[in-house]
Amino acid sequence: MLLMCANRCGGALFRALFAEVDLDSGGEYQHHRILQPSYICLNCGSPALDLSEVPGELRAQQEEDEPPPAVEILCPVCESLVVIGSDLECPNCGAFLEEIEVEG
Ligand SMILES: [Zn+2]
Ligand SMILES: [Zn+2]
Repeated sequence: MLLMCANRCGGALFRALFAEVDLDSGGEYQHHRILQPSYICLNCGSPALDLSEVPGELRAQQEEDEPPPAVEILCPVCESLVVIGSDLECPNCGAFLEEIEVEG
């Protein structure tokens, strides 16, 4: 589990909200029920996220926010215009490509 305040206030203490325990008059445990799968930050009261449970979701959001820049360069080997992303390889001839600064 990796809890983080949704408000990013830096608080390190959180309270689980998801379980409500029911007791009878003698204090004997009856049952508990799931209310909501969440936590709150005890520092500022904001909802807290369990980053260990939603890493894929958060990562997808971050990738949506910051798409990898597409760079168009000329392959130095076959001289075709290539759009390179994560892999620096010419799809035409397979040559290794480096990002070349265009002069002027
Ligand atoms: Zn907080
Ligand atoms: Zn090439």
